[in-house]
Amino acid sequence: MRVVVHKARCQGHARCWARAPRVFKLDDAGYILPGDIDVADGEQLLASKGVRACPEQALEVDEPPLTQL
Ligand code: SF4
Repeated sequence: MRVVVHKARCQGHARCWARAPRVFKLDDAGYILPGDIDVADGEQLLASKGVRACPEQALEVDEPPLTQL
């Protein structure tokens, strides 16, 4: 599972980090760091909750196509 980060939309609410601090890394001002995130197997549920918690739609789950599973 991969999370696409739309950094320009981030408003620094830190809600993603509150749900999954090991997945979502923030800078000193509370904004998400740029770059897509490869989520480890054990972190997928928390990562999904973090994505849904973002009020700015700055995070997006990028699932692999079914043919690659
Ligand atoms: S919840 Fe959304 S707006 Fe808030 S820090 Fe995370 S990505 Fe940024």
